[in-house]
Amino acid sequence: MSEPVPYVFTRNLKTLPSADVLVAGGGMAGFSAACAAAKQGAKVLLLEQFADLGGVATTAGTAAFCGETTGQGEVFDSVIRELERLDAIAAYKPYIDCEARSFDHEVLKMVLQEAALAAGVDILFHTRLVDADASNGRIETAVLHNKSGLQAVHARTVIDATGEADLAHRAGFATVKGRDGDGAQLPMALNFFLREAARVVQQELPAAPAAPGGKLEAFANADELPMVSVWPQDDGKVGIKLKVTGRDATDGRSLSEAEIDARRMMWRVVHFLQRHKLRKFELSRHRFDYLSPIIGIREGRRVLGEYVLNVDDLRAGRQFDDAVALGVFYLDCMDPATPKKAYLIDWEQRHVPPYHVPFRALRPKGSRNLLVAGRCFSADQLALSSARVMTTASMMGQAAGIAAAWCARDGSELEAVYARKLRAELETRGARLEPKPGMTPVN
Ligand SMILES: Cc1cc2nc3c(=O)[nH]c(=O)nc-3n(C[C@H](O)[C@H](O)[C@H](O)COP(=O)(O)OP(=O)(O)OC[C@H]3O[C@@H](n4cnc5c(N)ncnc54)[C@H](O)[C@@H]3O)c2cc1C
Repeated sequence: MSEPVPYVFTRNLKTLPSADVLVAGGGMAGFSAACAAAKQGAKVLLLEQFADLGGVATTAGTAAFCGETTGQGEVFDSVIRELERLDAIAAYKPYIDCEARSFDHEVLKMVLQEAALAAGVDILFHTRLVDADASNGRIETAVLHNKSGLQAVHARTVIDATGEADLAHRAGFATVKGRDGDGAQLPMALNFFLREAARVVQQELPAAPAAPGGKLEAFANADELPMVSVWPQDDGKVGIKLKVTGRDATDGRSLSEAEIDARRMMWRVVHFLQRHKLRKFELSRHRFDYLSPIIGIREGRRVLGEYVLNVDDLRAGRQFDDAVALGVFYLDCMDPATPKKAYLIDWEQRHVPPYHVPFRALRPKGSRNLLVAGRCFSADQLALSSARVMTTASMMGQAAGIAAAWCARDGSELEAVYARKLRAELETRGARLEPKPGMTPVN
């Protein structure tokens, strides 16, 4: 490939009113960070590139909380209470008895939006963080884009919850991605939905003259299918998750190709499911309902932090003095090398005891006013495969939000955040950082 030709682009940008805390990315981590900072009295601006809060949880259609769904801190716990009040979440079971608690992800969009607004968060939807300037470890300016064009914003503290560490990366902080050695990222997955219908229409394969071979091929039998998880929900609705491999979530071209290929694959899978039983699932009376607007991304960039949480920490159930989150979920490390169902580690090796995420893993190395939260925090690939789940991502967000608000209020830097004080505040606000007896799974 030829070298890109450099192009120097200069503009005078309109500057938005400054914020105490700027949060980029409105997934479970960014939402939790923004709410927690606002509850501390900070003026918070939350940027989200799409039109909903929740990220992978909502926009990508992943409608289940993995891990423990109580004691995650007041922000997450109040979301659960509201989902329960709206009858939009499965009954509670402790993690040990239930690895994922399903919810209605369309209802969650509304719950998150209203919770953020009630906390006083200023939400800008359809707004993408596109660049950031850092000097001497401090983010000085963030550049965003929406229908009003490119704009600049200044904030005292900044939280990157974009999933791909877009902000940290653009500002020049060190990041890594994928597996050591070949950089392969854990597979993406497309979530789509079928619905039982009174009038069944057997889906024909759409025309696809631009597809390889000029058409979409029907699958002859189940052995030809990629990994497909079938997940029946209420009211005749069935969620389907389709494994998508070999793509890079941080590369614009690769991500676009992932969506194109996954959508083609989805139609072939729908065609198959209407005509054949898959394992115990008989879906001949179901028709295609809808496809999530974006593919689900398990990992992109991870920052290199003041501490890199590693899989040995998880296996040892390591506790840290500067703990801000408690992880309990197993290592969910699907093999990126095959579209079939396969994992990097045998099932017996995938359970870990409860472990801590330390505050230092939310601090990009050398950062003075930038924190990260959620799936771009500082961890190795296997540790992330557990700690990225929504419950733990939300805990990280709440901690980052409180710390960021304190720094903004006091005019201090992250270095000054006293870990024990932060931990005490989190615990006061409902975060359980000590494992409950019986939380360790039995292999
Ligand atoms: C297919 C799949 C299945 C999963 N299953 C489960 C499960 O059952 N249960 C569970 O708990 N976890 C599950 N996970 C993991 C979990 O959903 C995610 O790791 C978690 O939701 C991550 O939250 P986050 O806030 O860190 O990131 P995200 O949810 O990715 O949020 C990032 C947000 O930032 C926005 N954004 C990104 N870049 C920019 C930018 N430049 N400017 C502005 N906004 C930006 C995005 O639009 C998004 O809203 C699954 C993940 C995948 C992909």
